[in-house]
Amino acid sequence: MTEGVLHLDKISVVIPCFNEAKVLSLFYREMEKVMKRMNEVDFELIFVDDGSKDNTLGLIKKYQEKDKRVHYLAFSRNFGKEAAILAGLKFSAGNYIVLMDADLQDPPYLLDKMYSLLKGEDCDSVATRRVNRQGEPKVRSFFARRFYRLMNRISKTNIIDGARDFRMMKRQMVDAILNMGEYNRFSKGIFGWVGFRTKWMSYNNIKRAAGESKWSFWKLLLYSFEGITAFSTLPFAFASFVGIFLCIVSFISIFIIVFRKLCGAKSAFGWTSMTCIILFLSGIQLFSMGILGQYLSKTYLEVKKRPIYIIKEQG
Ligand code: UDP
Ligand code: MG
Repeated sequence: MTEGVLHLDKISVVIPCFNEAKVLSLFYREMEKVMKRMNEVDFELIFVDDGSKDNTLGLIKKYQEKDKRVHYLAFSRNFGKEAAILAGLKFSAGNYIVLMDADLQDPPYLLDKMYSLLKGEDCDSVATRRVNRQGEPKVRSFFARRFYRLMNRISKTNIIDGARDFRMMKRQMVDAILNMGEYNRFSKGIFGWVGFRTKWMSYNNIKRAAGESKWSFWKLLLYSFEGITAFSTLPFAFASFVGIFLCIVSFISIFIIVFRKLCGAKSAFGWTSMTCIILFLSGIQLFSMGILGQYLSKTYLEVKKRPIYIIKEQG
């Protein structure tokens, strides 16, 4: 009697790495343990080397020599985490795909639970959120919270505070994400935008196992602008509303001034107030132009249709 071929599920793990040589071995060792424990599934580890300057790529190649489940894509320079995520997702072949950071802030032991949730329950992705931001600089937490609150007010796409990119998805959802070919990528928004049913798992924040964070405050601030322009057009409406409001104020002022004149009042007052008004209005105008510029520059980059990343080497 011939036995039917048993098709195992395959989990593709996508790991963006940028200068992670200090922590990569720790990560790989943890993953080995998890893969051993979850022996009912096939695994592939897709390391995306985002133009690291240290020995990250060397280490990945070393793992690959002894482990056939390891694959890598190496970029020609640093293109950013979003580009690395996209490349990894494109390369993945599994029917379950999970995104993970290399610094063990996304604990590998959760994979077990994510997989059984996806398998057993009626959902398309299992995502994670940190319930606290322990160990993070206070200023950073403060601005992060404000950002999420603002984002959820001005965008139709729901973005969860504390949500991480660490999530496991079914193939169908990943295919939907891959269909979004935009240049300015903001994954947290994209995950929400494509829809599908998502289950949330919470855990306490974990500090990076070794090495340093690649995100300076400035980089995060620019990234938050990316999120706003990619998923909301409300700032335009803001500019228009302020414009309308100021027009109404100016009509009222004209009316008052003309009325005073007709009543014979002398109007030689107000150098200070005039300066304030001019400064205020120029400020509003420049601010609105800035908003326009933000969207225009994003559009400019989109229409150029440049590749989002360039792969120098893969294996
Ligand atoms: N990363 C990347 N390209 C970058 C910056 C970061 O691939 O330009 C990767 C990095 O190697 C790590 C993940 O993205 O695996 C998260 O980065 P990090 O831990 O520095 O961010 P944080 O956890 O501090 O927000
Ligand atoms: Mg990290």
